[in-house]
Amino acid sequence: MKVPDTPENLEICKQYCGTCPTFRENKLMESEPHALFCARGVSAKKDAVNKGCNCMDCPVAQKYNLKGGWFCFHAPEE
Ligand code: SF4
Ligand code: SF4
Repeated sequence: MKVPDTPENLEICKQYCGTCPTFRENKLMESEPHALFCARGVSAKKDAVNKGCNCMDCPVAQKYNLKGGWFCFHAPEE
């Protein structure tokens, strides 16, 4: 099931992507689609450095049974 791009999910994402070292180090907020990558797709920032990922602790990932993590780099595995 695809993750809906809702204000509720964005608020949850802010707590997890928002505190992620990859998000902060690469200033992903400044590139489209800013956050909620599991719903909106990968970040437009192409040279991002991987500093870890909080997605697997996120309730959105758990609710939609998302696998893989690092959704700013690649789409959830099917
Ligand atoms: S998708 Fe994962 S790696 Fe990317 S910013 Fe969010 S928590 Fe960090
Ligand atoms: S699974 Fe990752 S990209 Fe999706 S809402 Fe949670 S922290 Fe954000």
